[in-house]
Amino acid sequence: MKPRDIFLRGLRREPTPRVAIGSATSIVTTDLMDEVGAAFPEAHLEAEQMARLAAAGHTLLGYDNVMPLFSVWHESSALGCAVDWGTRGRMPDGRPMCGAITDEVIVPKDFLNRPGCAVPLQALRLLDKQLGDEVAIVGKVFGPWTLGYHVFGVQEFLISTLLDPDAVRRAMRTLVQVTIAFANAQIDAGADALCLADHCTRDLCAPESYRDFVAEFHQELHETIACPLILHICGDTSDRLQYIRETGIECFHIDSKVPSMAKARELAGTTMALMGGISNIHTIRNGTLESVGEDVREKVKIGIDIIGPECAVPLDAPCENLKEITRVARTLR
Ligand SMILES: [Zn+2]
Repeated sequence: MKPRDIFLRGLRREPTPRVAIGSATSIVTTDLMDEVGAAFPEAHLEAEQMARLAAAGHTLLGYDNVMPLFSVWHESSALGCAVDWGTRGRMPDGRPMCGAITDEVIVPKDFLNRPGCAVPLQALRLLDKQLGDEVAIVGKVFGPWTLGYHVFGVQEFLISTLLDPDAVRRAMRTLVQVTIAFANAQIDAGADALCLADHCTRDLCAPESYRDFVAEFHQELHETIACPLILHICGDTSDRLQYIRETGIECFHIDSKVPSMAKARELAGTTMALMGGISNIHTIRNGTLESVGEDVREKVKIGIDIIGPECAVPLDAPCENLKEITRVARTLR
């Protein structure tokens, strides 16, 4: 079975000859940049370098998917947020474009043609042409909660969920259109599945806020976007996994900070796949080949369907540990 089919079947919890291997978030490390001769910040801004670095996820690491959107700022930059694209060793950062939650968000008519969107769309086309028969091509969009942080600033957005919840919902209603338009454009460019990243992390979003503000949007995105979604939320999500499962989203990209991965498997139910699970700091950055192997075997045994890093890999992690995930996982069912 081709890696592409193993990945796409893993997303739906269908039987595969071995466990699927992959990542919905960045797999880039500085030593991986050296191996392929493409580096940040150029690889955020230039399609050929972006595609070359993403392809290494399969050609060097052996994963069953590739994913070229390494930063969290692409569509926000196209919307009008000022973005500092960082350096080789530092991820990009951006600034809000609106001051108050009541400020109207105007989505530029040409936002898909602006570099923030156009570059990753072109990278997806290049990857599809080069690897699309063999490997799953995964894109990435941000949900309206994270776009709210980016457009209004985290503090203004979160305070407004208490002081002016209707204005927050109105803003999210506008921003979800950005998520949908960018998702559809990525599917047209060749994406087989999409990471839907939305930072409804426990320290910033109570489980009730997830249920009351965010879940309906995630359900709507699942029903509107015509490909499987992999929802990514960092941190301990065990208090909202039940609500996530109810959205109908195919797969959840899970962080090792959940106190019990076995309990998380139970909360995810029998139909929602789980991806990720390998600790970035403890295992991938600071672990040995041996401890990587132990972590992979343990997580696959518990029932992770697509094994890989839990979130964007730290840039200073050794890519040998990322390769070790594949070496061990290829022997596991
Ligand atoms: Zn994360």
